[in-house]
Amino acid sequence: MSLALGIVLLIFFLLTLFFGWRYYDSRQQLDKQNNLAKNLNLQLSAFNSERARLAAVLDQMTDGVLMADSQGKIIFANPASKKLFETTNPVDHTIAEVVRHHQLVEAWRHSQQTNELQSESIEIPTRRQFLQLIVIPDNNTGGSLLLVQDLTRVHRLETVRRDFISNISHELRTPLASLKALTETLQDGALSDPEAGPRFLNRIVTEVDALTQMTQELLDLSRIESGQVELNLASISPKELLLSASDRMKLQAERASLSLHVECPNDLPNVRADQARLEQVLVNLIHNAVKFTRPGGEITLLAESIDGGVRFGVKDTGIGIPSDDVSRIFERFYRVDKSRAGGGTGLGLSIARHIVEAHRGKIWVDSLEGQGSTFYFTIPKSLPY
Ligand code: ADP
Repeated sequence: MSLALGIVLLIFFLLTLFFGWRYYDSRQQLDKQNNLAKNLNLQLSAFNSERARLAAVLDQMTDGVLMADSQGKIIFANPASKKLFETTNPVDHTIAEVVRHHQLVEAWRHSQQTNELQSESIEIPTRRQFLQLIVIPDNNTGGSLLLVQDLTRVHRLETVRRDFISNISHELRTPLASLKALTETLQDGALSDPEAGPRFLNRIVTEVDALTQMTQELLDLSRIESGQVELNLASISPKELLLSASDRMKLQAERASLSLHVECPNDLPNVRADQARLEQVLVNLIHNAVKFTRPGGEITLLAESIDGGVRFGVKDTGIGIPSDDVSRIFERFYRVDKSRAGGGTGLGLSIARHIVEAHRGKIWVDSLEGQGSTFYFTIPKSLPY
């Protein structure tokens, strides 16, 4: 009896051990599966957020990114590349169809053949755009990654810098050569000539004055550009500003047989600005209007209320500006036609632009060759500092 009980107890014990172990084992397996699923989920969400981050970067990039397969078919294009190549949906099109420029297509072909990185820069004259393409071959898939950069601004700055150096050398060389010629003539005997002596001396004074003015303007320009000029801000009446500038320039306009008048409503809001600097802008613009308008013409100073500020204008009935030059006249030393410039330095508009921009305003010109120009600039009611 006790043996039978012992056996039953042993069997019971063995069964408990067996099922307990099975249960424990299946729990272990379940935990393992749960952990695996958790890890997979974590990896998936890390992968998804990585993807989203990469997509955001590619979307926001100003450089174009294209991916092509080994046949040159585009399989990915970010928004910047669509903009740079002016196409709505490049995917599934060939590189040649999208970039439409044989030098760039050649760069891709060369990279495919050599399996090496290639870069090519081109100018697209119709759009006045400079593009640089870098082709990076993908050795694993045989495809390639194409990076497109818009170098238009860099190229433009480089041209402006080169022009600036050549212009300043030229601007200095002319008066210096003339000073040298005048002093040599005086040394050669003209000094004791009662008629020629004073005449040459007067011309020397004129040349030195022009050089001084240019140096002063350059200094002003570099101070304004580097933000060293403090604006003396006050509440200014647009009409008073126009009347004051007109008073200063009236005599010059009359001498050139031009009429100068002010058109400005009385109820314009005041602007917060530096009176002396804004007057300098107006004087520079009126000075040009006088220089480039034939006798009998008209110059009108305008001001009108716009959203958030006041728009000023200097309108003339002068020779106008060719449309090709309009975008460049605010550059330093830029003159449309040096022979007609009437002795200007080409710095007046540059200074005007910097003063206006220091007031957080904008300056531009509307002009028709042969009919006249209107220079506009805006000044906000209050500066958003
Ligand atoms: P400048 O000292 O030569 O006048 P600016 O910077 O003031 O230099 O002007 C640059 C060029 O823009 C001038 O040389 C001229 O060719 C053109 N320009 C400026 N204002 C006028 C205007 N009112 N009418 C025609 N051309 C103008």
